[in-house]
Amino acid sequence: MDYDAMFNTQLETLKDEGNYRVFAELERRCGDFPRAKSHDAEAPDEVTVWCSNDYLGMGQNPVVRQAMKDAIDQCGTGAGGTRNISGTNHHHKLLEAELADLHRKEDALLFTSGYVSNWAALSTLGSRLPDAVILSDSLNHASMIEGIRHSRAQKVIWKHNDPEDLDRKLAALPANAPKIVAFESVYSMDGDICPMAEIVEVADKHGAMTYLDEVHAVGLYGPRGGGIAEREGLMDRITLIEGTLGKAYGCMGGYIAGSAALCDFIRSFASGFIFTTALPPAVAAAACASIKHLKQSNLERLQQRDRVAKLRAMLNARGIPHLDNPSHIIPVMIKDPVKCRMLADILMQDYGIYVQPINYPTVPKGTERLRFTPSPLHSDADLEHLIEALTVLWKQCALARAVA
Ligand SMILES: *Cc1c(COP(=O)(O)O)cnc(C)c1O
Repeated sequence: MDYDAMFNTQLETLKDEGNYRVFAELERRCGDFPRAKSHDAEAPDEVTVWCSNDYLGMGQNPVVRQAMKDAIDQCGTGAGGTRNISGTNHHHKLLEAELADLHRKEDALLFTSGYVSNWAALSTLGSRLPDAVILSDSLNHASMIEGIRHSRAQKVIWKHNDPEDLDRKLAALPANAPKIVAFESVYSMDGDICPMAEIVEVADKHGAMTYLDEVHAVGLYGPRGGGIAEREGLMDRITLIEGTLGKAYGCMGGYIAGSAALCDFIRSFASGFIFTTALPPAVAAAACASIKHLKQSNLERLQQRDRVAKLRAMLNARGIPHLDNPSHIIPVMIKDPVKCRMLADILMQDYGIYVQPINYPTVPKGTERLRFTPSPLHSDADLEHLIEALTVLWKQCALARAVA
């Protein structure tokens, strides 16, 4: 058997379709966000990153960095074990308390990533609650889909952001079955935001628990960065809030927040929580500092909103089509995988602008896009450089302009 030949056949197919992933090798420059050194031989030495999930640049915030350094000096590098066997550090407990407070919940539970928190929490809920049915929004993230699949619970997919469809599907289920409505607040590919009040209303009506992924919203929305649920005054209506420490908080890790019983249940039964080394204490300390900072500082959020609004206005003025949405994510639609990659390559090589092309299977075929996430630290000059480059490329590639 020639296994490499088998691997290569499938890789060739990906390449032919324009869906082969190429990673940009970068060295982020601390103190110079959003600049990074590029190791791509074709690109300039220094590039401007336009697609970071470190949405506010908190990964380079001096307070956050200092918290990480102090904790390393205090505790060393690794946690030294799983949470169960010697790995529960005081910094983990402090962070969990901080997260519970952020979402006004009784408790919170830390995981090594947001992916793992979704996978572990949903698979545990779905497999441990007898006859549970999980109702999943059709555009939910891969980590939720995998968790649901692994749970082997009955799964019902409802139409994206459609509370009426959810209502119909809940009504068709046995009244006494445990039901879990799983959805996100900000959907990161289209940047749309769920109608949370309606979804919560429908779930309540049918006695379903709500499972909300706020990964792209924590730190960014709500007066203390508690996410869309905080902004809408709905945190107490959500059974379980899941989030990440790897995006707006600029660190790493994932979590759930909910009742004491819910967190204890997941803590006690989730294999993805129990059988893995706990996060380094320094990561927990840095995340804690980042959350604390964004609880009391609105400056970063306001600056980000200003940059986002400005880039949208500039794109509109040049007739460059982008999805209109109420979030911080600006998808510029290319609708062709090969063109999408080509545009990203030219932006990188000729202009020092790094934006990752988003192709299938991350988004449906025919909706390929460049996804821009302006941060508080993208300057007016950065915005102008980007818009000039896009304007030139739009002409060269004869891409359709938005109808004025
Ligand atoms: C990124 C992401 C996750 C996973 O979070 P990580 O901390 O990066 O593992 C979960 N849900 C959604 C919607 C995401 O975009």
